[in-house]
Amino acid sequence: MKIKKYFRGSGRVLAFVFVASIVWLLFDMAALRLSISEVNSQLLKELVVKERELAKRQATKGTKVAGRDFKHPLEKVQMALGEGKKSDRVERKVVEVYRKTGKFNGEVKAHTAAPEKDTGTQAGANPQGSVKAKMQEKISKKSLKKHNSGTDTTVRNPIREQATETGAKEKERRVIALSRTKAPPAVREEGQPKKVIEAIKLQSSATKATTKVVPVQDTKLSVGAGLSQKANNSTLKTAKRGAQATASAIKERPVNIIQRDKKEKVVVVISKDKENHKNDSVKGSVDGNLKSAPQPGALNVGKLQASEPVKLLNISGVRRSGGLHKVMALDVTHKPRDVRAVGQFGHAAVVPLDKQEESRRRWSEGYFNVFLSEQIPVDRAIPDTRPPACSEDLVHDDLPTTSVIFCFVDEVWSTLLRSVHSVLNRSPPHLLKEILLVDDCSTKDYLKEKLDVYMSQFPKVRIIRLKERQGLIRARLAGAAEAKGDVLTFLDSHIECNVGWLEPLLERVYQDSRKVACPVIEVISDKDMSYVLVDNFQRGIFKWPLVFGWSTLPEDYIKKNNMKDSDPIRCPVMAGGLFSIDKKYFYELGAYDPGLDVWGGENMEISFKIWMCGGEIEIIPCSRVGHIFRGENPYQFPKDRQKTVERNLARVAEVWLDEYKEVFYGHGYLHLLNKNVIDVGNLTAQIQLREKLHCKSFKWYLENVYPELEAPVVKAEGLVFNVGTRKCLVLDKGSLFFETCDLSKQNQHFNYSWVKTLRQNTSCVSPQSTGTGVAMEPCDNTKTHLRWMHKTNKVLTEHLIAEVSPRGVPRRVCLEAGPKADGVYLKACEASSSFQKWQFTHYYTQ
Ligand code: UDP
Ligand code: MN
Repeated sequence: MKIKKYFRGSGRVLAFVFVASIVWLLFDMAALRLSISEVNSQLLKELVVKERELAKRQATKGTKVAGRDFKHPLEKVQMALGEGKKSDRVERKVVEVYRKTGKFNGEVKAHTAAPEKDTGTQAGANPQGSVKAKMQEKISKKSLKKHNSGTDTTVRNPIREQATETGAKEKERRVIALSRTKAPPAVREEGQPKKVIEAIKLQSSATKATTKVVPVQDTKLSVGAGLSQKANNSTLKTAKRGAQATASAIKERPVNIIQRDKKEKVVVVISKDKENHKNDSVKGSVDGNLKSAPQPGALNVGKLQASEPVKLLNISGVRRSGGLHKVMALDVTHKPRDVRAVGQFGHAAVVPLDKQEESRRRWSEGYFNVFLSEQIPVDRAIPDTRPPACSEDLVHDDLPTTSVIFCFVDEVWSTLLRSVHSVLNRSPPHLLKEILLVDDCSTKDYLKEKLDVYMSQFPKVRIIRLKERQGLIRARLAGAAEAKGDVLTFLDSHIECNVGWLEPLLERVYQDSRKVACPVIEVISDKDMSYVLVDNFQRGIFKWPLVFGWSTLPEDYIKKNNMKDSDPIRCPVMAGGLFSIDKKYFYELGAYDPGLDVWGGENMEISFKIWMCGGEIEIIPCSRVGHIFRGENPYQFPKDRQKTVERNLARVAEVWLDEYKEVFYGHGYLHLLNKNVIDVGNLTAQIQLREKLHCKSFKWYLENVYPELEAPVVKAEGLVFNVGTRKCLVLDKGSLFFETCDLSKQNQHFNYSWVKTLRQNTSCVSPQSTGTGVAMEPCDNTKTHLRWMHKTNKVLTEHLIAEVSPRGVPRRVCLEAGPKADGVYLKACEASSSFQKWQFTHYYTQ
């Protein structure tokens, strides 16, 4: 009993201890949770406070700006439409934007008009959800698992397009195809990029520059940091002024000297804005004097001697904690130096009456208003056109770095500079590894030494000079081969990156290295240089024959998928000129087909390659870049322009389109099948690459990525019914006969193809030049004598018309059934003869 009692007593004690420890454990866990969330919220709070401060500063500036007669392009468009005075981003209006291929033949042009309304689709869907939503997912994962920043990579690719802003009334978008070029001698198709080949002489201005400078992206430096731009001042002159202003601004800052490296280069870190940048340091090196030059958005340490202590700014505002922060609204130009400058804030510029002749004369230098462009500051402010939600988006602190690659040939000075400055001024410095300017053998003098001198002021800018004209595609490959960043960002050389443009692109690549991220391409008017918004929910598509265009996602689709205007939009094809792609992935994909020449088609090539070989293309609405869409290419095509583009497209079709290449050829490009007209070059490497990557079929692409495209693989198919005999054609033992029509009989099934052949499997009906017979022969799309016209002639609508050339004289003949259905013959065409009328079971096109 005693023992029992004892046990009972100790049982109580044990129970008490047990309960107590449970309670203790619960308390402990709660405390732990609290402390974790405290740490998190503390970090978040700091970020938020930082953002708020920034926002406050900007808001103050913004008000002032608005007070000075700033007209937002959106307002402008809306006012033109009489839809209200205030700008409302949600209500932004479409401007006409199109990618222009230029001088295509008539048949191609027929495809250029229609503004497209998507019919709804999975491809346009956004199964990915918003960046923000993804972030939420990641946050929880990240808190458990330490992120391995070194392994994540992503890809994006560029766009090629031309557009014209024609005013709000012309809401419809026109679509025209484009493409681009050839094989770079120095580029490998896989693995790491290797050194540029002999054909390409690299000449880095950065190596020539004696002194390096550190770009400063702090908004506090915005005033005076950019180039001055008074109408009559030379850019260089005014740029120097800007540089001096910057230098003096810097002098006022407290600086810490850091250390020297072994090569006697001074490596320094300057602590600057303690509040914003307390954890960051930036290293730079200075090994000589810096020529005093313009420093928009960058610190010019100009007069410093190597022997002097050199001071560089600590410029990064990002904590490398593996955490998240709100997209940075860095914009050195946010408070422009001269609010009244021409074109300031993306405003339309006006040519004075006495300058109109000059302005007209200079148009062809760039096929846009070159005169006005010169008047506009190279560091002008532009309106923040992002959907409102974008500024709240979170991105990772440890995003990959990027090399921005600008390829150019004979680019206009002012637009080239504005492109570069927009990147320097609106990109977080720690993410901008470098800017590579690939000079595709320009002929203009100002793009030589003058450009070297100008750019030597920016340590991040390197110029790569190509010895021979390579064309856009191989120029990009040359740039990629030199790039040191994790991500390649390709841009055209007449763009303006908007605030917060970079992080959303890199975030997407960071999340999935097989995603290729494109910014929304906004319009810089070729006429008045104003920055014009484009409509939301636009995606890149194509029509036959590989004509690029934009189309709006249908409303019900947007609703069904609960899409916000800031959500990424999946695109069947990219425009081509502007995109970010993970460098490693770019090479895994085999980069561009280096056999593509000059310009055109490369956007199709890379788009098909990405989708079919496991990647994705997205437009990221929170990233916005303005682009001058031009009516003509301002540079020479070494060969005929049209032929160059057509040849590029044929290469793409041959490698990627499988049986659908006939659809391409059938839309006005049958002449490309004639090897005497166009030599598409060797495709072996490209075909092998596709096999090696185990890429999916084009049929898969159409079904899964772009199901809205009408792409019947033949024009007509089924039984071939003769109206006169009321019987059907049958192929038996290599000869054609007639039989009672029977759908179940496979030997009565024929195809009428896009390349106009009448075939069963691989046998084609061949009109004989001598006599009146027809025979079967192996199909060969290059053989023009196998082509039959059907449904193209207004009078002979149902006839099958061929051309024969007995004794070299071409003659038109029609396929006719013998009156007793005893055979098929070639006869002179007769409109009324029912024995010459043929009908297929299914017609897929008229
Ligand atoms: N480009 C080039 N070499 C060429 C053709 C073009 O480097 O042979 C450059 C051009 O300067 C521009 C970019 O490639 O920066 C895209 O060309 P463009 O703007 O003419 O194409 P679009 O925007 O009209 O499609
Ligand atoms: Mn362009």
